[in-house]
Amino acid sequence: MDIKENYNAIKNQLPAEVQLVAVSKTHPAETVQEVYDLGQKVFGENKVQELMEKYPLLPKDIQWHLIGHLQTNKVKYIAPFIDTIQSVDSEKLLIEISKEAGKNNRTIKVLLQVKIAAEETKFGLEIAEAKTLFQQYIDGKFPNVEITGLMGMATFTDDKEQVKREFLILKRLFDELNQLKTLETLSMGMSDDFPAAIECGANSVRVGSAIFGRRDYSK
Ligand SMILES: *Cc1c(COP(=O)(O)O)cnc(C)c1O
Repeated sequence: MDIKENYNAIKNQLPAEVQLVAVSKTHPAETVQEVYDLGQKVFGENKVQELMEKYPLLPKDIQWHLIGHLQTNKVKYIAPFIDTIQSVDSEKLLIEISKEAGKNNRTIKVLLQVKIAAEETKFGLEIAEAKTLFQQYIDGKFPNVEITGLMGMATFTDDKEQVKREFLILKRLFDELNQLKTLETLSMGMSDDFPAAIECGANSVRVGSAIFGRRDYSK
């Protein structure tokens, strides 16, 4: 597997207006640097500790996105530099992110992670909860947070129609919330389903293994 070939192949499949978040979890800083050197500036990690290890080793103009579950007690570590937290799934977390962003004199962009998969998933907001949080945000409850969009993951299945149905649920919610306050980012789609996600309205995709190769969790 050649990372440059993979990267260029993915870039060639993405319409110009779709953002690519290169998911570098489990891959070392040198490999992230390799993809950075090909022109990629936006990277996604799913664990705070792993991100904290790589962050000092890599160029400072990387826009880091956290895409995995975030515990409130870890927000303080990433608050000084994180570009976007895509995995916000509770009011408690929004309050904490706003507090820590304020301490750092900044605003942190977040996406609300919404449960759209039919399979049981541990994390993500129900549709109704997402609407409630968005209204609280509009009412000024999280002053140092900017909710810029929504993130969702479809069921892991070969049934393309099911995957698209799930993506369209999130697209519908995006359009609804966008009427209340303008949103920028609809983050849906991973290595196996990003073309379907784009068909369904995604303008940001999170692609890991199709760029970096398969992850080896045994190390
Ligand atoms: C790992 C991960 C991805 C990327 O998955 P691939 O199948 O490797 O592209 C995308 N989104 C989230 C939330 C992830 O945890």
